[in-house]
Amino acid sequence: MSNPVKSTGTGFSMPALIYPTSALAPTISQATVELHYGKHLQTYVDNFNKYVADTEFEGMSLREIITQAPPGPLLNNAGQVLNHILYFEQFAPASEYNKPRRNLKEFIHFDFGNFDTLKKRMEDAAASLFGSGWVWLAQEESGKLNIVSCANGETPLRHRMTPLYGIDVWEHAYYIDYQNRRAEHVKKLWDIVDWEMVESRLNI
Ligand code: MN
Repeated sequence: MSNPVKSTGTGFSMPALIYPTSALAPTISQATVELHYGKHLQTYVDNFNKYVADTEFEGMSLREIITQAPPGPLLNNAGQVLNHILYFEQFAPASEYNKPRRNLKEFIHFDFGNFDTLKKRMEDAAASLFGSGWVWLAQEESGKLNIVSCANGETPLRHRMTPLYGIDVWEHAYYIDYQNRRAEHVKKLWDIVDWEMVESRLNI
């Protein structure tokens, strides 16, 4: 899994946004990207740096911290930093990779039957997740794909699963653009998923 957050020795820095803040509109507006990436993710990074400082976890990778840290603010913020790195990397303006291909397509067909069934199951999971959290398409150690609902800043990595495609159902991800219409937002996201990026996370 790619991990653009590098330890600088004095803390972790913000991952680069790999497209302009307007690139995902109208699915995700420029205002939402500016708030979500520029303010919310910045806060998670700042809090992560604050809580990791002068602990046994300082200098470890995000993956190590997420699998080893006890429940609490360090784990919560490490999880949210990782979740948001993966989140912002997995989108792109309309591209030719607008649906799963190759190995990922085969995995999806094997574990879900077809792409439409996967989409429906993720939409249902997002609709039924109470409060804030994430719905992930994730890969178990056995290789099997599954859908995992995570509360708040939890991440599939904590459960030894590889996160592939994540839906952020915190209201900050969609409230400006969709108000309370979470289900509509989740359906629209399929238009901007970069499936080549998602496939690059697959263990094959
Ligand atoms: Mn978020």
